[in-house]
Amino acid sequence: MSIPVAPYPPRSTSTEDGPDVWNWARNSTIAPASSLLRPTTETQLQEAVSSSPGRLRLTGARMSAGRMLELASAGDRLVDTTGLRGLLGTTEDSVTFAGGTLLQDVYDVLTAMGRMLPSSPGVIASQTLAGALATGTHGQGLRQSSLGDAALTVRMVLADGSVVDVDRHHPWFPAVQLGLGVLGAVSAVTLRTVPSRVYTCVKDAVSAHDLETALPAWNRDHELSKAWWFPDEDLVHVWSAREADEADRLAWERGGGRLLEHGTASAAMNRTVDAALVNMRGDTRLADGDSKPYRTVKRFRDFTDVTGDVYQVFCRGIATPQINVEIGVPLERAGEVVASLKEWHARTRPHMHYPVILRCTGPSNAWLSPSQGQETVYFGLVVYYADDGTLSEGGMDFLRAAEEVLAAHGGRPHWGKYFEAPLYDWRALYPRWDDFRRVRDQLDPGHRFANTFTDGLFD
Ligand SMILES: Cc1cc2nc3c(=O)[nH]c(=O)nc-3n(C[C@H](O)[C@H](O)[C@H](O)COP(=O)(O)OP(=O)(O)OC[C@H]3O[C@@H](n4cnc5c(N)ncnc54)[C@H](O)[C@@H]3O)c2cc1C
Repeated sequence: MSIPVAPYPPRSTSTEDGPDVWNWARNSTIAPASSLLRPTTETQLQEAVSSSPGRLRLTGARMSAGRMLELASAGDRLVDTTGLRGLLGTTEDSVTFAGGTLLQDVYDVLTAMGRMLPSSPGVIASQTLAGALATGTHGQGLRQSSLGDAALTVRMVLADGSVVDVDRHHPWFPAVQLGLGVLGAVSAVTLRTVPSRVYTCVKDAVSAHDLETALPAWNRDHELSKAWWFPDEDLVHVWSAREADEADRLAWERGGGRLLEHGTASAAMNRTVDAALVNMRGDTRLADGDSKPYRTVKRFRDFTDVTGDVYQVFCRGIATPQINVEIGVPLERAGEVVASLKEWHARTRPHMHYPVILRCTGPSNAWLSPSQGQETVYFGLVVYYADDGTLSEGGMDFLRAAEEVLAAHGGRPHWGKYFEAPLYDWRALYPRWDDFRRVRDQLDPGHRFANTFTDGLFD
């Protein structure tokens, strides 16, 4: 089946915003600057919501695809919630942060407290807490799930300006945990915390010949695991982390609690890295050999095992404008999906300049999470922008074709990334889809927190 799709948007290379508000990748204008409201307190947020005519779209760091954030019509308001930030309270095993707090600030506070979240981090921390929850942002590890699964209470300003706290015991909590910004404006989130642990992450480069069975095994055998699959080279770079032994933990402490690199570097990935760089250079034409897209691949060169806290080991990404597609499929289907992707790769020899990122999570409680109710393996696909803001034809063809393969295997797309909505039958994919819609009708009867994209999903 081939569904006609619109091209992925080019990005602006200008640093001037002009009369518009842009998303982070600068590949979409999302609102006229005149429609922007920037409350810095919950009371101001209430006023912004209750006094605005028309509809409202909420934003955090604007790292999602433009259609998720853009206003539907002139007269609607864009409410930037990044002004609501900071630590609001702590207990022995929880923290409450304002919704617009950057994840980096959350992790820094927790680290200083000797605590961490029971959900492992994603690759970067420049998202806001509310934005991350709203899209099901996740890290890796079968014994945990998305960030929203660490939430205990979500506090929201509703469309009439009133404030509501929804806690874990409330029947609507699984809707609020991943709300796509259509239920209310999240002003604060209380998160469960656990004592910080130190991990040793063992890195390896292995053949992809048995990836079908090895992928679930790595994830079952280790608390946290992540892998990058280079199909052109038939190679997988695997990270497997478990709690550090006493010797590693003491060595990390002696190093001042900074990420500790072990032993001799391995060159096992270097040839593969070079091949990916050649493709990337051809596609992006970036002249600066040390620019961010190149660095995201170069970091696999001369790798070493490491010891550090969960944020030091896993939250080390380099945020680079890109088109990223990430599709979660049930882990029990991992073998057949990997086999299908291998068959498709061998047949079509798609053009790739970044490996397929493989991360698993345990089941999520959130009704609209791609990992709702099931252990899930996420296949992440990345294409970087060229110097002039365009995307290579080969890269776009690769994304489309790979997404079709993944969708055909029951894939559920990451809400904050790019996907072709016509490929998915939402109601069939999400057993609680209509329950979510009913909660939305209760919390926002006028569907004020909406835009064209969410109308297309729900109405
Ligand atoms: C370079 C890069 C790396 C990434 N890495 C990962 C990763 O490792 N793991 C992963 O799972 N995802 C990852 N993502 C996806 C990212 O986590 C999501 O797009 C996330 O939503 C971004 O948060 P934000 O603060 O930018 O939210 P925005 O993009 O601003 O908003 C996202 C959604 O949240 C809603 N929203 C925002 N603020 C509020 C509020 N206060 N109340 C209610 N709703 C609100 C918006 O309406 C929208 O629906 C990555 C994205 C990029 C660009």
